[in-house]
Amino acid sequence: MKFYIETYGCQMNIYDSEIICSILLKSGFIKTSTLKKADIILLNTCAIREKPEKKIFNRLMKIRCLKQTNNQIKIGLVGCLATHYNKQTLEKLNFIDLIVGPDSYKKIPKMIKNLKKEQTKKEIDVSLANQEKYTKIIPIGVRTSISAFLSIMRGCDNMCTFCIVPFSRGREKSRNPNSILKECKILYKKGYKEIILLGQNVDSYFFKQIKFLNLLELIAITVPLMRIRFLTSYPSNISKNLLEVVKKHSNICKHFHIPLQSGSTRILSLMRRKYTVEEFLLIIKMIKQIIPDCSISSDLMTGFCTETQEDHRETIRIMNIIKFNFSYMFKYSSRQGTYAYRKLKDDVPNILKLRRLNEILMLQKSHSFYRLKENIGKIQNVLIEGISKKDDNYYYGRNYKNDIIVFPKTKSKIGSYNRVKILNSTFTTLIGERILSEI
Ligand code: SF4
Repeated sequence: MKFYIETYGCQMNIYDSEIICSILLKSGFIKTSTLKKADIILLNTCAIREKPEKKIFNRLMKIRCLKQTNNQIKIGLVGCLATHYNKQTLEKLNFIDLIVGPDSYKKIPKMIKNLKKEQTKKEIDVSLANQEKYTKIIPIGVRTSISAFLSIMRGCDNMCTFCIVPFSRGREKSRNPNSILKECKILYKKGYKEIILLGQNVDSYFFKQIKFLNLLELIAITVPLMRIRFLTSYPSNISKNLLEVVKKHSNICKHFHIPLQSGSTRILSLMRRKYTVEEFLLIIKMIKQIIPDCSISSDLMTGFCTETQEDHRETIRIMNIIKFNFSYMFKYSSRQGTYAYRKLKDDVPNILKLRRLNEILMLQKSHSFYRLKENIGKIQNVLIEGISKKDDNYYYGRNYKNDIIVFPKTKSKIGSYNRVKILNSTFTTLIGERILSEI
């Protein structure tokens, strides 16, 4: 039987699709990249905001038409929407045969077989586990041949009032470090050059006295020739000791993704974030003191419940102080099941949310440009990831800060490290030239 999988949402979902592929391939299923050739179509979904949810819903409606020509096709909704939708919504989606939450992927082959044998009309498993379920599964890379995702923990205990993750993915579960190190070694042997450690709250990793900073150091030592990145960091989990580990190991990238969400302490408190704006600024100061040449990115949200123009101005003020290297920015959308949905009033008009979003988008663009220009004149190690989409005479790759760099193609291979002198910058990309030999 052939399966087709489509992925929506964050890096965690991309990783999960790799896990699903691995499970299905091991059970004898064949992967196809053509929707129409598939016997089973899986949509790995995201519940974090309203916009992707609508997109997925529209996609499901289109896929549904395939059943009119072939009623043997099975359609599966997997991932965060499976746990997010309530029973009534799931019942309305009567053309979906398979509904599987993020902790039940191992059951997919059996569920498909049950459907094919017509033992059941619909298979549903949206239970959430207390422990990591995929420790022994090596994901099959579907992203690039250079850089691999590696999930070290799942779920979240923070319960931010706007966020659906603690409900859709459950409580925090950290993976056994031995299985993580084993996976790192396998990735290295397969020729991957970079590992991106993933977790909703990567720095709250904790497994039998092993904290995130211990794990990070173990990985850096175990695969010294691989580049290591990690995301996402919760602001108040960043410690001096963690920063010392990042500084000490040249193969750990000097990039921190730390969501601020809002520049107003009043809004942060309503969001139930565990820091004030002043504390956030102190964390940034500590990072810059210990690792001056690093990059810091963030997530920002406009229009959260009761956000005033004054709160919004505070966000702009803080952005101007920090000048993030880049940010993911969204307007708030209320998610069913969260505290904010139940108890707070989504009272900022959509037009205002959008106007504020556009303002911070423009501001971030100028800050990103400012930060990129700081690299001009420097010589940096660039890992070549591929051929530039805009000009096939150029390679593109990333430096240790996660900036994208293009430079004229040389005899160097994709996947090699090159010393590149940064000559110029556009709003999004650095332009350089290779110097000296490969590293
Ligand atoms: S820290 Fe907050 S925003 Fe991030 S995943 Fe956890 S609950 Fe969601």
